[in-house]
Amino acid sequence: MSISENIRRIRAEMAAAAEKAGRDAAEIAFCAATKMNDADRVKEAVAAGVDCCGENRVQELTAKLPLGAYTGKPVHFIGHLQTNKVKFVVGTVDLIQSVDREDLLIAVEKEAAKKDVTQDILLEVNIGAEESKSGFTPDGAREIALRMAEFPHVRLRGLMAIPPIQTKPGANRRFFAEMHNLAVDIAAKKYDNVSMEILSMGMSDDFADAISEGSTMIRVGTAIFGARNYDK
Ligand SMILES: *Cc1c(COP(=O)(O)O)cnc(C)c1O
Repeated sequence: MSISENIRRIRAEMAAAAEKAGRDAAEIAFCAATKMNDADRVKEAVAAGVDCCGENRVQELTAKLPLGAYTGKPVHFIGHLQTNKVKFVVGTVDLIQSVDREDLLIAVEKEAAKKDVTQDILLEVNIGAEESKSGFTPDGAREIALRMAEFPHVRLRGLMAIPPIQTKPGANRRFFAEMHNLAVDIAAKKYDNVSMEILSMGMSDDFADAISEGSTMIRVGTAIFGARNYDK
């Protein structure tokens, strides 16, 4: 199957999941997770109508940008970001989805102030409380949201989560539901500098469940591009 055929099929599956949940598919963004795919393949995905692209590594982002890989669509950063690489990302991407610790938030604020820009971000929540993953606890995310006025060059637009890898279908639904509750909770507080319109969750294997539970942005790699070859 070609990239464009895959994207068409995923769009149809998104629409079906939205309809089943009584939601409007137009309120759910389809982000291509483009890691390990070259600029030409990313361009193919953009031309086929994904809503945004998400990169995991600074090196890939800075290599593909000048090749026009994302031209016409927003580009997001979705991977683990080291504080010493913040300068390559702040003011370059439309959204940093993976702000997973306070140190990083402070570094993003500092760099955005220096460049005199406002950087949109999501807080990454370690919703499965996994040892191996970074991210805020739900209470940690609440606490940061409460304090967002301290970060005037950053706008908190919502939350992102990567729940545990599961073998049983549907096993992540409870984590998606917890994320949705957390986002609704924070939104209701109406904090300065905080809007909660983006709830980024759902990947190739579970985006339909994420949509059932209120996702407004899915991040899909494998189902678009095929399996990634880590030996290459
Ligand atoms: C790779 C990646 C995805 C997409 O995963 P697939 O299972 O290939 O769809 C989504 N989000 C993040 C943060 C990723 O790194």
